[in-house]
Amino acid sequence: MLYFFRYKSITGAIHDNRVPVIMICLQVLCSGTPTPSHLRWGSSFVLKMDDSKWFMFDCGPAATYKLVQAGISPLDVSDLFFTHHHSDHDSDYACLLLSRFDMSIGNESPLKVYGPPPTVSLTEKLIAEDQGAYWHDIVARTNHPLSLWAYQQRGGVLPRAVPVVDSKDISPGVVLSNDDVVIEAARVEHVQPYLDSLAYRVNYNQGSIVFSGDTRPCQSLIDLAKNADVLVMECIRLHKDMKDNITSECESSAQAAGEVANSAGVKMLVLTHQSPDLDQPFKKEEVIQEVQKSYNGRIEWAVELEQICYEA
Ligand SMILES: [Zn+2]
Repeated sequence: MLYFFRYKSITGAIHDNRVPVIMICLQVLCSGTPTPSHLRWGSSFVLKMDDSKWFMFDCGPAATYKLVQAGISPLDVSDLFFTHHHSDHDSDYACLLLSRFDMSIGNESPLKVYGPPPTVSLTEKLIAEDQGAYWHDIVARTNHPLSLWAYQQRGGVLPRAVPVVDSKDISPGVVLSNDDVVIEAARVEHVQPYLDSLAYRVNYNQGSIVFSGDTRPCQSLIDLAKNADVLVMECIRLHKDMKDNITSECESSAQAAGEVANSAGVKMLVLTHQSPDLDQPFKKEEVIQEVQKSYNGRIEWAVELEQICYEA
C-alpha cells in the first residue's frame, strides 16, 4: 500500500513519523512551459529513493537555482535524464554543469547524462576543450591563482582538473540498471522529426514512477506507465482549448492526462507543464474535473519547490 503526503521543502517538516520501507521523494523544480510566469517556468524534477543521490529529469530554466532553493546541492545530482531538447527542458544545463565545476573539489563522480540526440553534442558545445562555449571559463578557473586558491580553500588538491561529464545519446530501452534501480525509456510523440522525445520509467524495489516528458497521448506511454505508482504527466491546457488546433497533435490536455493515467492504471497522477492560463482563478478546479472524467486515482498539482513524497 502507498501512503502519500507532501510538504513545502523550504519551510516544512515531514508530517509523518512512521518508518517507511522506502521513502520516495519527488522534488518539483520547474513545472511550466517556455513562457515564464511568477509561478512556473520550464521543466525539471529531481527524484530520490531513501538516501540515494538525486536523479534529475530535465533541466529547464533556473533549475539549478531552484535546486539550491530546495536545499539540494548540484553535486548531489548523480544522473540527469533529458526527455527532449526543447529549451524549456534543457536551457539550465550549462548552469548546472558550471555550478558543479565551481563547487567541485575534484573527487566527485562525473555527472552521467542521458537523453535523445543531441545530448552529447550539446554537452561538447558547452564544455569541450577549445570548442566549448564555456572553455574560456574553464581555462581561467583551472589556471588563475584566484580560482586555484578558492579551489584549495574548499578542499581541492592541485592541479585542478577540467570538468568531466559522461553524456550519452540514448534510444528506447533500459538505460540504467543496478541493484537498486532500473530506468527504461520509451519513445513518445511530440515534435518529431525535429526533436526526438523520450518518457522514462524508474523501477525501484517496491514500485515505479514514470515521467512522460512532452507528448500527445500515445500507446507507448500507456505501455511504459502500466500499473506504475506515479505518473508525472504533461497537462498543458484544457481539452476545449486544444481540440481544434495543432496542439492536440503534440501535447497533452487535462483530459488526455486523465485518459492516459486511467488506461495505464497508475495510482497517482502528478499534473505538470501547466500553461500560465491554468494558474488563473478556478482553472485548477476545471482541470481536476476534466481529469476525473476518466481517472479516479489520486491527483497532485505540481507546485514549484514543493516535494511529493511517499513510502513504498
Ligand atoms: Zn517540448
